[in-house]
Amino acid sequence: MTAASITDMVARNLCTGCGACAGAFPDLIRMVDDPVNGRRPVAKPGPEGRRAAQEATAWCAGGSTSWEDLARADAVDRDWGPVLAAWEGWAADDEIRHRGSSGGAVTALAAFALSSGAADGVAHIAARADDPRLNAAVISVDRAGLLRGAGSRYAQASPAESLGTIARGAEKVAFIGKPCDVASARKAMEADPSLGAKVPLTIAIFCAGAPNLVATGRLLDRLGVPKDGRLVDLRYRGQGWPGLMQAEWIDASGARQVSAGISYAEGWGTILQSERRWRCRVCADHAGAFADIAVGDPWHAPPEGDTDAGRSLIVARTPRGEAFVEAAIRAGVLVAERRPRDVIARAQPNLKATHGAVWGRRAAMRMLGLPAPRDRGQGLMRLWLGLPLRQKAQSVAGTWKRVLRERLWRRVRIAESSR
Ligand SMILES: Cc1cc2nc3c(=O)[nH]c(=O)nc-3n(C[C@H](O)[C@H](O)[C@H](O)COP(=O)(O)OP(=O)(O)OC[C@H]3O[C@@H](n4cnc5c(N)ncnc54)[C@H](O)[C@@H]3O)c2cc1C
Ligand code: SF4
Ligand code: SF4
Repeated sequence: MTAASITDMVARNLCTGCGACAGAFPDLIRMVDDPVNGRRPVAKPGPEGRRAAQEATAWCAGGSTSWEDLARADAVDRDWGPVLAAWEGWAADDEIRHRGSSGGAVTALAAFALSSGAADGVAHIAARADDPRLNAAVISVDRAGLLRGAGSRYAQASPAESLGTIARGAEKVAFIGKPCDVASARKAMEADPSLGAKVPLTIAIFCAGAPNLVATGRLLDRLGVPKDGRLVDLRYRGQGWPGLMQAEWIDASGARQVSAGISYAEGWGTILQSERRWRCRVCADHAGAFADIAVGDPWHAPPEGDTDAGRSLIVARTPRGEAFVEAAIRAGVLVAERRPRDVIARAQPNLKATHGAVWGRRAAMRMLGLPAPRDRGQGLMRLWLGLPLRQKAQSVAGTWKRVLRERLWRRVRIAESSR
């Protein structure tokens, strides 16, 4: 559904936190890190702020997207969005592969966008140096800049804040984000074709949901970071595949301390995933259908340990994306082999079931008169009908229970985080 303003989007639980609205109106809308509700936009009080909050909905994909123009030819495309081609591979640059979340393919492709002249810069996110629990939208122009972002950050981040900078500048900038970030980028480019002309490539990472700051706090507790420690690094993935979650801090005596690492399975499975926002649970695109290229983990051939040599699943979603991946392979920056297009279903069986359950969750919301996002032409109901009866029932009944437990009818109010 489309709300009248971004303030309404936030209040009605439709905002994904992509940051596009704040990028469009940087003086009137700012992103705030709310520990529970996530990184969300707040408009300046007064008529100017209200007007910006209304106009910014043109760049916002939180409430609605249209799949009607996406080229979808067969069952793979219908289930996953356009899949023109798929590869498994990794960055040829050993450091990028090692630091990357899976095989460093995203960072390698971004570096190739710079070295080939396809882009003057790359918009992505990186941990904030002053507080690594939080993330900042940055535009990198070299390998060192890109390496700041290598490795997934299982936390709130708003890369689409950079869209405003791109629109106001003259340079060509490639864009990296989660599927919801890329969906807003696409909407913004449709609303402003001059912005579209400056974005030569979009890359989405697969995403099952972004946990909030409460989850980050629990992770830091599990890693043994003391409350009076000054956090200087927090890693969720990378340095091998899938990588360990690990923190570094300066203790009260001024000494640098490094935690033991915990596995991705423990960190995501028992600490982080339960704190995904409700908007993530009604998200119907976890695999970046609106991007030129989407990258995830090839879980069908999982690593044997916690820090194996990484591999990425790379999916071309547009002819432009396919040509770019092929050029990167030819140039020797990406080592990758073609796979059958349906590898995506084998790699991500959970995400397909999640997409199906989302139709039931949204229907359950609407039956209660609550707002839910709408993705026109996606055909989610077909995926729901393919679920076993128990999962169908669970998607509806589980939502009603959650509505009661989390009182999801209440308007969301944003409060800024303090340390
Ligand atoms: C919250 C979250 C959930 C995920 N869920 C899944 C999943 O269910 N299935 C799956 O296969 N993969 C998932 N991933 C993606 C996966 O972890 C890898 O990011 C992906 O395989 C790309 O790996 P890579 O080594 O090629 O990328 P890298 O070379 O490591 O590059 C990663 C890029 O992602 C960007 N990035 C990192 N964190 C964020 C963020 N929070 N928001 C926006 N951009 C970010 C970085 O800036 C960097 O440019 C998730 C990632 C995140 C952040
Ligand atoms: S543009 Fe993004 S951050 Fe702004 S309201 Fe929409 S979903 Fe939220
Ligand atoms: S689950 Fe969907 S809405 Fe949530 S962060 Fe990931 S892509 Fe965005």
